[in-house]
Amino acid sequence: MTLEMHEQDLLHKVQAGIGIGGTWGPSSSGATFTVEDPATGDVIKSVADATVEDAVRALDSAVAAQQEWAETPSRLRSDILRRAFDLLIERKEEFALLIAVEMGKPISEARGEVVYGGEFLRWFSEEAVRVQGDYRRNPEGTGSITVSHLPVGPCYFITPWNFPLAMATRKIAPALAAGCTAVIKPAELTPLTTIYLVQLLEEAGLPPGVVNVVPTSNPGAQSSVLLADPRLRKLSFTGSTAVGVKLLEAAAPNVLRTSMELGGNAPFLVFDDADLDRAVEGVLLAKFRNIGQACTAANRILVHDSIADEFVGRVSEQVAAMKIGRGADEGNDIGALVDRRAVAKTVALVADAVETGAEIVTGGDTVAGPGNFFQPTVIDKVGPDARLVNEEIFGPVLAIIRFASEDEAVQIANDTEYGLVSYVYTENLGRSQRMIEKLQTGMMGLNTGLVSNAAAPFGGIKHSGIGREGGFEGIREFLSTKYTLTPR
Ligand code: ADP
Repeated sequence: MTLEMHEQDLLHKVQAGIGIGGTWGPSSSGATFTVEDPATGDVIKSVADATVEDAVRALDSAVAAQQEWAETPSRLRSDILRRAFDLLIERKEEFALLIAVEMGKPISEARGEVVYGGEFLRWFSEEAVRVQGDYRRNPEGTGSITVSHLPVGPCYFITPWNFPLAMATRKIAPALAAGCTAVIKPAELTPLTTIYLVQLLEEAGLPPGVVNVVPTSNPGAQSSVLLADPRLRKLSFTGSTAVGVKLLEAAAPNVLRTSMELGGNAPFLVFDDADLDRAVEGVLLAKFRNIGQACTAANRILVHDSIADEFVGRVSEQVAAMKIGRGADEGNDIGALVDRRAVAKTVALVADAVETGAEIVTGGDTVAGPGNFFQPTVIDKVGPDARLVNEEIFGPVLAIIRFASEDEAVQIANDTEYGLVSYVYTENLGRSQRMIEKLQTGMMGLNTGLVSNAAAPFGGIKHSGIGREGGFEGIREFLSTKYTLTPR
């Protein structure tokens, strides 16, 4: 065990169990699964491995709490969310360390995730008291129409490992604000942050049963039973498109409301009229945040021929200087990838890019163990046949594709089944407007490499998903519309 003392103390505070109805306990089978530090491969904690029966008990608990929670005055629900925000910010260092230890990202970025994730609690504490309806007269003049928005009911959340805190608050906060209860299944690689968050919500005054947490090493078995349960009314999932499609199929017979945040293949366009200082800074953020493991990560960097040499030179110089090391230790830029599979995929995509004509400018290799490290890498002149043109790299590899004209750039950018986010660097107003209209993505960063914000509607089009998280839109995903007709 290479954990430092303060890390061990923190891990002791995190429940190792399943949280149902305000009580923490073991799995009904007694089974556990282990969580590892991806930088060392060491086991950091064992966690109860929820059975399907445990998950059904968690749903029983969410269903039992639903009516009372929906009838709880929105001011009280808002106050609990606000208290949770305050507590989270007070414990920023603890949460950041937990995220960095179990997930591997640099501690400075983990602090950023706590602030970002916390903002959903604050934003939806503010939205909870602002759910509006409306009143209309029908055009015939024979009656009035009253429109109200009511909580959709018990929800099931499946979250990924790359932002273990923020992806949980982004679902839990709007659900609670809307008056919904939930069962949450964190990713098996990173359950600790979610468990600790649910502990914090309880401390903030959340009544038992409103949020229940069921970590499992067998998500397929759990999801198929919960999604078929007629008492469940909503699925919200963040993860890969492949799993998302399976879940949509499983949700269909039960006609569930769904919010799906799926994969991305973000293009990052740098035009010849771009401010290169800003573009270099932006691409490093859009690419290397989370060691490249984000659905919003810039996957294809499209750079105009006339500036490509200078851009590649400046970017590569900075990438080559990045410091690789354990995320939980201060001062590292590039932490370990989440597991061995992630390293193997990165290795394969880089090898394939080189075979199809690309050149490695810096990096390009794994780092000797322990831990799942891959060097921060820049590859230039990536060809159209490279696999990474169509697949999310999810690793620290900045792949440059050169283009000659605006039309060509747009064509390449849109030539993907995904449509989550695009990034555009240009100082030309007309071109900016054209890009807003032409790029087929749900979000765009215009001269910025970071779009995530709790006050904005996050989400994609095409195979990147359905629905929006955050913003005014976020709470609507948890409300169903009811209209009442009253004759005059
Ligand atoms: P990744 O490949 O990046 O790990 P996944 O889509 O596999 O992304 O994982 C995202 C979340 O989906 C995790 O919580 C994981 O446990 C969960 N998951 C994976 N397979 C299933 C499934 N068949 N049913 C429900 N959840 C699943």
